[in-house]
Amino acid sequence: MERREFLVGAGVAAAAGGVAVLATAAGEGPASAQGPLAAAGPVPGRTPQGQRGTELLRMQEDIKRALGKPEGQRRWVMIVNTKKCTGCMACVVACMAENVAGPGVTYRTVPEVELGDYPNVSRIFMPTNCQHCDNPPCLKAANAIAPGAVTKRPDGIVTFDYAKMKDPRVAEAAKKACPYTAVYIDQGKRWTEGTPAGQPYEKTVGFEYGEKWDRAGGGAPAGSARKCHFCLHRLNAGMLPACITTCDGGVTYFGDLDDAKSLVSELLARHQTLRLRAQLGTEPRVYYLADDAGAAETLNTCLACHRSGF
Ligand code: SF4
Ligand code: SF4
Repeated sequence: MERREFLVGAGVAAAAGGVAVLATAAGEGPASAQGPLAAAGPVPGRTPQGQRGTELLRMQEDIKRALGKPEGQRRWVMIVNTKKCTGCMACVVACMAENVAGPGVTYRTVPEVELGDYPNVSRIFMPTNCQHCDNPPCLKAANAIAPGAVTKRPDGIVTFDYAKMKDPRVAEAAKKACPYTAVYIDQGKRWTEGTPAGQPYEKTVGFEYGEKWDRAGGGAPAGSARKCHFCLHRLNAGMLPACITTCDGGVTYFGDLDDAKSLVSELLARHQTLRLRAQLGTEPRVYYLADDAGAAETLNTCLACHRSGF
């Protein structure tokens, strides 16, 4: 299940947004600029490659430890440092390739958001995906029509049942209920629509949820509602999500918050964070680093503006 070596066109769809709530992480205050965690802090600039390699290896070990525990004793979370994102879209492409996404399906988005008024203008890139809410509105909406369509796993990952999500009523309900615009309905289209032959990357079988999906043959997930699942199939094989291993900037972190030794636990103990629209009570599992007031304000402003777009 190594990532297939092909590229698909990557469009950036509307991203998650809304007013965020500043959540002060437990434990220490902002990290000092020392040790391997320093580059995961609010310092602008990319993570040196060697250091990122160390972080990736550490997260890999974190995953292995987590997989050695019962599912209910793992708490998967994602952390994003927007200050390091260059908007290269490698994570978007990697995600689409990994999950064999067709047109209109983009689990991961990286919108570029402009802030301020000329001449005091700045821009940030805002990687987003399903927030794996602990209190997911998509679950309530979809399961009210088709019980079991959405599942909140003991480890926190929110999964979709593709068979049940083929019902347009269920798919639309989940999509409409998600406050983060993280749900997409796969219309089954090809990137090469209208051309004589599909390309090999479109005929690839997907492995989401640990099963084989022949989308090109017309089977699910074509016709179903889809979204990020933290690359569950990769996790179960001891691998990090594709968006994380692909990112050259060291922007995104992943691991088990129920493990005090994990990198994500250390980061959340050392940094202040934001969770998108947390005031809705959705309890998102994606955290955004926001140690200084400027970062918090920037993210809040960004999210407030972006929210008006959908
Ligand atoms: S972000 Fe949206 S799709 Fe993901 S769990 Fe929350 S409500 Fe569901
Ligand atoms: S791969 Fe990393 S740097 Fe590039 S857009 Fe994604 S998060 Fe940003």
